[in-house]
Amino acid sequence: MTFDKRKYVKEYYEKHKEHLLVYHREYNKIWFQKNKRRIADKHRLHKEERNKMDLQRRKKVKIEALSHYSGGIPKCSFCGTTELVILCLDHINGGGRTERRKLGISGGVNFLSYLRSHNYPEGYQVLCYNCNARKTFSELPAFQP
Ligand SMILES: [Zn+2]
Repeated sequence: MTFDKRKYVKEYYEKHKEHLLVYHREYNKIWFQKNKRRIADKHRLHKEERNKMDLQRRKKVKIEALSHYSGGIPKCSFCGTTELVILCLDHINGGGRTERRKLGISGGVNFLSYLRSHNYPEGYQVLCYNCNARKTFSELPAFQP
């Protein structure tokens, strides 16, 4: 019988999971404290690269979420525009701000990531900023005829 290192490591991890999680959390905390300056220097050195990658990541998350709620190419449910920069997600029954506050998410891509991690729940639609504003204002009592 040969020694299966992968199996051993997996079993060891499962057996000591609780302890290892606490240990690594503490270890990482100390390591980040010790290397704060080094990390900051590295971030500064690769600032443009990091910004570019972050922008790409955000764009990917947005396209993925809006594609899901549009059922294909991201487009406004009211006017049909496909200009990605003006498209946003709308809570069909309202209450978006309340929901984000309850979840502790500021909005934007963070909220879209949250939806992705929860398998895109129902109750949202894609609108452009104009149609979203029109919908919001038409619901306000001051704008009722
Ligand atoms: Zn629209």
